[in-house]
Amino acid sequence: MSLDYQPKWLYEVPSPSYVVEEGRLKHNLDILKGVQDRTGCSILLAQKAFSMFHFYPLISSYLKGTTASGLYEAKLAHEEFPGENHIFSPAYQDKDFPEILSICDHIVFNSPDQLKKFAPMARKAGRSYGLRINPEHSTQPPEHAIYDPCSGDSRLGTKLSELEKALAEAPQDEFLYGISGLHFHTLCEQGAEPLAETLEAVEEKFGKYFQHLKWLNFGGGHHITREDYNLALLEKCINKIQTKYSLKVYIEPGEAVALDAGFLVATVLEIIEATSDNGRQANIAILDTSAACHMPDVLEMPYRPPLMGSGEAREKPYTYTLAGPTCLAGDTIGTYSFAESLKPGDRLLFGDMAIYSMVKNNTFNGMPLPAICAVSDNEDVEIVREFAYEDFKMRL
Ligand SMILES: *Cc1c(COP(=O)(O)O)cnc(C)c1O
Repeated sequence: MSLDYQPKWLYEVPSPSYVVEEGRLKHNLDILKGVQDRTGCSILLAQKAFSMFHFYPLISSYLKGTTASGLYEAKLAHEEFPGENHIFSPAYQDKDFPEILSICDHIVFNSPDQLKKFAPMARKAGRSYGLRINPEHSTQPPEHAIYDPCSGDSRLGTKLSELEKALAEAPQDEFLYGISGLHFHTLCEQGAEPLAETLEAVEEKFGKYFQHLKWLNFGGGHHITREDYNLALLEKCINKIQTKYSLKVYIEPGEAVALDAGFLVATVLEIIEATSDNGRQANIAILDTSAACHMPDVLEMPYRPPLMGSGEAREKPYTYTLAGPTCLAGDTIGTYSFAESLKPGDRLLFGDMAIYSMVKNNTFNGMPLPAICAVSDNEDVEIVREFAYEDFKMRL
């Protein structure tokens, strides 16, 4: 994204706060709806990436539904998002399953054993259910293994050999305990080319079973709203499966829904200057926000988030390493340069802070949680939620 953005709301919102702009969200939703309209597929919001339910009514006017990683996300969708409610979990719990059945339309199981255990209940409740498969076709580099469901000993999805073994043991008067769909999810922040390649592997291995099914779910990880994404190839993949096999295609992106739609506003608290006397290599600016607490993917992925008005280290006259106020020595966000020196009270605006931010944050060190704000099309700011000491205490 361009780093020139200087919104007029920068000094109007609390600090720190996550700020999501409706206009940017709509930009993404228009692209996704275009795919839906042109292909007839259904697109679901993967809530684990973005659960800011303030925007669920808006998102539901574009997308067909949501998908959940467990009961709580499914409940949130049930309460706030009018649309289809899908769920996948590697293992469901007996105590949760009745409630899941009462609110979810689609249930995806991870293994034949899970199917065998829960399918009778799902069938009785009239739910559509399916099996997650592992096509054993990795399109991600080895250093990305933590995000690659096809890597090594992944627990995610049933391999062809496991499916064949289960089929031999399952009742023969129906296809594998009555499933009506298959689900694969193998991508992470990827284009349509790895999808096309994965789909070939899926078809080659599992295509012989498609005649028994009603739907195929392509999972998430599709960076559909990124500028260079090959929409035509995505639509070709969807159309091919839908026409060749008469299957309904679902995709369930998380990131793509709110990509570049949100920011994190932070304030400079303190400057530690590098001088020839103190032997420091770089100036440091301590902020009221923390990588560890408020942008955990900066340390986990890891990556350096875009910062409005900044340059690479030493590209502009004043360079600073930006850091959090926690005890963690490595709680640094990155090194950036600025046209002017930073001083306490200055506000900074990080980009790429809608997805995997507020859903993953924490109060380590007793850090206050950032407020959550929404900016409407005409730049009105709404403070959706603010947090206080109680939000720290109540979890302990
Ligand atoms: C993570 C995940 C998604 C969403 O992934 P994004 O990378 O946010 O698009 C969708 N489906 C499943 C099963 C997932 O685990």
